Amino acid sequence: MIARVQPLTRTRAVRGPFDYRLAADQQQVTVGSLLRVPFGATRTLGVVVELAERSELDPGRLAEPEAVLGAGLGADLVALAGWMAREYCSTPARALSLMLAPGAAGGTTARLALVAEATAAGRAALGDGTALTDRQRELLGSLGRDGPTVAAQLGTGSLRRLESRGLVAIDRRAVARRPVLHGIGAAAVHAPALTADQAGALQRLRAALGRAAGGNAAEGWAAENAVEGFLLHGVTGSGKTEVYLGAVEATLAAGRTAIVLVPEIALTPQVLGRFIARFGDVVAVIHSGLGVGERHDEWMRLRSGQARVCVGPRSAIFAPLDEIGLIVIDEEHESSYKHEGDPRYDARSVARQRALQHGAVLVVGSATPRPETVVAMTRLALPERVDRRPLPVVEVLDMRERHQPLHPVTRMALADLRRAGGKAIILLNRRGWSNFLSCRACGRVWLCPNCEVALVLHRHGRFVACHHCGHRERVPDRCPACASVSVARHGAGTERVEHELREALGEEGFPIFRLDADAATLAARARILQRFEAAPAGVLVGTQMVAKGHDFPDVALGVVLDADQTLRFPDFRAEERTFALITQLAGRTGRGALGSRVLVQTLAPDARAIGFAVRHDSDGFIADELTHRRALRYPPYASLIRVVCSAEDEALARETATAIHAALQPLDAAVLGPAPLFRLRGRSRSQIVVKAGDRRPAIDAVGRAVDAIAPAAARRGASVSVDVDPQ
Ligand code: ADP
Ligand code: ZN
Ligand code: ZN
Repeated sequence: MIARVQPLTRTRAVRGPFDYRLAADQQQVTVGSLLRVPFGATRTLGVVVELAERSELDPGRLAEPEAVLGAGLGADLVALAGWMAREYCSTPARALSLMLAPGAAGGTTARLALVAEATAAGRAALGDGTALTDRQRELLGSLGRDGPTVAAQLGTGSLRRLESRGLVAIDRRAVARRPVLHGIGAAAVHAPALTADQAGALQRLRAALGRAAGGNAAEGWAAENAVEGFLLHGVTGSGKTEVYLGAVEATLAAGRTAIVLVPEIALTPQVLGRFIARFGDVVAVIHSGLGVGERHDEWMRLRSGQARVCVGPRSAIFAPLDEIGLIVIDEEHESSYKHEGDPRYDARSVARQRALQHGAVLVVGSATPRPETVVAMTRLALPERVDRRPLPVVEVLDMRERHQPLHPVTRMALADLRRAGGKAIILLNRRGWSNFLSCRACGRVWLCPNCEVALVLHRHGRFVACHHCGHRERVPDRCPACASVSVARHGAGTERVEHELREALGEEGFPIFRLDADAATLAARARILQRFEAAPAGVLVGTQMVAKGHDFPDVALGVVLDADQTLRFPDFRAEERTFALITQLAGRTGRGALGSRVLVQTLAPDARAIGFAVRHDSDGFIADELTHRRALRYPPYASLIRVVCSAEDEALARETATAIHAALQPLDAAVLGPAPLFRLRGRSRSQIVVKAGDRRPAIDAVGRAVDAIAPAAARRGASVSVDVDPQ
């Protein structure tokens, strides 16, 4: 047999597959097997993408794989990798690399341990008068109750003595490293009685699950008919998660498996907790907060069929499951579903493709769905909160002519809240102390030497930092250009707001917490959230992280500072982001007894997105946004493809972009650029944007142009990255 192997290299230039002759003892190899193969003068890992009877090459010249490694992929994932390579102008090797068992490339394997199990004689010994010490009775009792157990947990010595009497069997087995899950409160095990809206939505999903044929995933493309996709459009607190749980239950009952994507497990462990409480051990979780061994073993539990529901972030869309019946994407508007490395895949699009392969039903949920989702999917609405509490009143505070970060109304509301002993969340999408520094004498602005952006003051650490590349300098005491000692600080970030709140309000019973990327690890962020949750009263200040899906019951006040900041980005999603941010924060408030209020501070009180958010008018916003997008030919009415060329030398970056532009010329789509972008990490950048009505031919044309230009450009030091459907 011949195995066609895709070597897992990063280089674009190497395009497999390459043929290898399987040795006599390698005949178990299938499509998806992971091999170590000789490759030129070295060796590399590769994935089998096809088997064949014979090769076009002389069989005598074909090499044999050196080894077949443990955990391979299913044929469906190999097909999916091929689709991703085409869809995102990448390579199959790069897509396959994302799908391997965690740590597989680095040699992570199962952990072996001595496992003890009671024999038939051992089970009988408790009742038949066999002479046993109390300790031995206890051990046999525990093995009878809990089943096979890692010997070291009970005491290997004592177990060995029972083994010598034939009462216990001990052998070495693979033992899964199971993640310890922190911060998961006790969640209800049983489903509550559903509201009429929830029951209606679930009914529709059950019907679709009944229709979903179940494709032949191994063949690549199963159902000819499109995926059945549903948008669960429900205000925050409307009980969407309960509907997902019901749909997963129905899927498992039908003998199929499910994937549930969530934006960020470490920050929102409650959702995962509810899945585990409801379904127990069949739930596997894979996320970056786990060690590689744990991730490997959870992956293996899925691959072996022990676990049949995978809950995880973006990458969980590659969970090694067979017979997938349902894919759920919670908070589908979250930008974390987009992967920012090659291939720049969007887990929401990959989910649709995987659902197509498996004949699975796709369900996405959000209070603020993306306009493209509303157009593409069948909408199921949950218009009310489960507890019938009204949504909070949202007030706009005009910040024009104001020079303090907090509006007087905000200050008053916070003071009132402290007196009442409540909680508030304040969102400001900018960390640090001041936005930028300038010299009062000559006007010099402190910029990053690598990135052409202003350095942000972090007063606590006494440094200024670039938020793009991490460059840091000491806080300047004089201007290097004119030697003036008068340096002005402009704008406010989370650090300054935290400081001002502490000065004005902070006291024993009213702590101020700050949550932003200064807390570097997910664990550190989760701890801040836990402390805020545990505190009886206080304020949480932070960047957009504070508006993610966590669910504190007693937040009575939400404040958005500089709400139009997201509107100032030159981006067609600016309105969408602003609307979502305000609406999501409003969703975090008002689930408790102190009532609820949301204050939106802005320099643009009349902005469209803010107006719709104030009225909680999601439908109105989407309709209006779609009208604009249609007029300007933005998604979903066109597909965007962004090509960024970068090089240390500005001229080279521009030349490369110009060459790609020229190679695209006959394309029946608008091609914008080349346009310069700000320098990033010491590299100049130049970008082209393709706006295409006809998606497939445009992607193919970009792929061809990049393949034609990029290799020569790379030799001169320029790199090219392609982003299909940029965020
Ligand atoms: P969403 O995901 O839409 O924000 P959740 O599913 O988290 O909403 O539900 C919000 C809260 O209401 C949760 O605490 C959940 O346990 C509870 N809940 C959901 N559905 C019901 C129901 N039918 N009856 C009672 N409580 C419910
Ligand atoms: Zn100066
Ligand atoms: Zn920088």
